[in-house]
Amino acid sequence: MLKSKVLEGLTRRRFLQWSQGAMAAAGASPLLAGAAKAFGDGPQAAGPSRPDYYEKLGVTKMINAAGTYTMYTASTMPAQVQEAVGQAAHHPVHLSDLQSKAGEYIANKLHCEAALVSCGADSALTLAAAACVQAANPDLKVGDIPEKVSEGKNEMIVQKAHRYGYDHAFYLCGLNFVEVETMDDYKNAFTPKTVMTNFFNAARGGEISHEDWLAVAHSHNIPCNIDAAADMPPISNLWKYTQMGFDTVCFSGGKGLRGPQNAGLLLGKKNLIDLATANNNPYDEGVGRGMKVAKEQIVGMVAAVDWILEQNDEAMEKGYTERCNVIAHMVQHIPSMQVSIFVPPVANHVPHLVLTYDPSVVGITPREVHDKLRAQDPSIELNPSTGSKHSITGDGSGENQIVLGTWMLQPGEDEIVGRELRKVLTSAKGA
Ligand SMILES: *Cc1c(COP(=O)(O)O)cnc(C)c1O
Repeated sequence: MLKSKVLEGLTRRRFLQWSQGAMAAAGASPLLAGAAKAFGDGPQAAGPSRPDYYEKLGVTKMINAAGTYTMYTASTMPAQVQEAVGQAAHHPVHLSDLQSKAGEYIANKLHCEAALVSCGADSALTLAAAACVQAANPDLKVGDIPEKVSEGKNEMIVQKAHRYGYDHAFYLCGLNFVEVETMDDYKNAFTPKTVMTNFFNAARGGEISHEDWLAVAHSHNIPCNIDAAADMPPISNLWKYTQMGFDTVCFSGGKGLRGPQNAGLLLGKKNLIDLATANNNPYDEGVGRGMKVAKEQIVGMVAAVDWILEQNDEAMEKGYTERCNVIAHMVQHIPSMQVSIFVPPVANHVPHLVLTYDPSVVGITPREVHDKLRAQDPSIELNPSTGSKHSITGDGSGENQIVLGTWMLQPGEDEIVGRELRKVLTSAKGA
């Protein structure tokens, strides 16, 4: 077979170029362009002829030495996730069919009863709340949330130290907060109007443990939600909290999971996930109607779950530590510089490089370094706790610290960051 001989050794892309040329000569190029798309010619295959829309728009691309922060578009998707997104873009499907099959697949992989791909962790909180509101108020229809919730059961119990910016996700379902501090407060907080509880996993305070929290709520038959948005790695956290007994568990899809930034996971009990689904799009009346995840991102989320389950915590930690070491070696000779590696206990639980130095010796403050690196080309974004009073390590020297999250760096960027950082730190005195 002469034809397959010719094709051997040609990449698929070169084959497409070659065959497109051949077909164009035969006057069939529009057809072939369609065929190229059907092959799943995804983002990886972007050639020099395609526009770079960031450049076209004048948007600065950055080197992310910060971490998975929403304002910095969190993470980038691994190649296999990008490819899955690209492939999904080529075909229409029934949205609810994709939603339910993606949910079943993810639930199976993450060892829980049921799952739903939400529009980020934030919408997972809202959909969990809508599910609990309906479970507690069987007479309320989907379209009654939030307007009619005040007429029925509408209380959510939280520890005072677990109040946070994401509370608004629950207000969207018309819930009122009941705050508790001690175990006694908690036991007395349950009323005939209690709908659910929320537990903020990465909260810095709060004296009631996960286990006690669950035991008391469940003795009243009240479901418990946990917000674990940024709490992976370790990978096993993806099933730890459902197995601990939390009825619904929320994760960000675009942080450590490295799926699309507007995707997230709601994991949990089948009856609640079913109710959450009823309040989600594509149905028009639900509180989740405006929280649509497109087919590309649903598929991307599934691919990200596959990707993370192929990783292991030790190898990831080793890789991020090596990047810390590359950067540390390039700046540790600077006068007064102390380098250390810090792993936050919960949320962003990965090695961060912490550079502590005396700004009066070096001639530039960490905040100034932060701003300089951001403004230059290439633009480098340091961890937002750089130069902050609220030290990431909690040791009180935050204002003298540069912090780097190395886990989102692309190959080779550790050396660029080390070099640029050294330049800024060593040129400061004379300036
Ligand atoms: C990031 C985060 C969220 C929101 O996650 P999205 O995926 O951006 O919606 C919610 N809760 C906590 C604790 C977070 O860190």
